[in-house]
Amino acid sequence: MTDGPIVYMSESVLERLQVNAARSHPLETGGILIGVTVDNSPWVTDVREFDSPRRGPSQFILPRGVTQRAIRDARRLDARLGYLGDWHSHPADAPASRTDVLTTRTTALAMRRAVLLLITRRRGQTYAMELSMARGTRIVPCRIVPTGDLPPLVHHTDTTP
Ligand SMILES: [Zn+2]
Repeated sequence: MTDGPIVYMSESVLERLQVNAARSHPLETGGILIGVTVDNSPWVTDVREFDSPRRGPSQFILPRGVTQRAIRDARRLDARLGYLGDWHSHPADAPASRTDVLTTRTTALAMRRAVLLLITRRRGQTYAMELSMARGTRIVPCRIVPTGDLPPLVHHTDTTP
């Protein structure tokens, strides 16, 4: 696990993922991971949770079109941000399913870039993070490095007299 690629994640994001997963328990919930890339490593700085009519104790299917819309909205506020991957909860403490892995690999191949798959797994009273990265046809476990939030955009004002 320690040899995997490093993925930075803001502590506020980790906390929100826990809260979202716990609130939805015993049903799955999920959404997308948003952020930037720093020194070739993804940095998850924001997260979206989507309502899905197709969710149950062991199913969560993202509604069509919500990802594109959410990324567009996020970029309107901060153009540095982009799509980094998907996440959903597993209330039964199960690892990423074959379908989860296949879906992520398909997305990575279509986008021709690394895509993250984060599963929040029920562990005792809390939810643990299981993060992997699909690159080409390979999918590998990642090491999460907690960070602070992405510094806000600095707006330069034109001071020419
Ligand atoms: Zn799953």
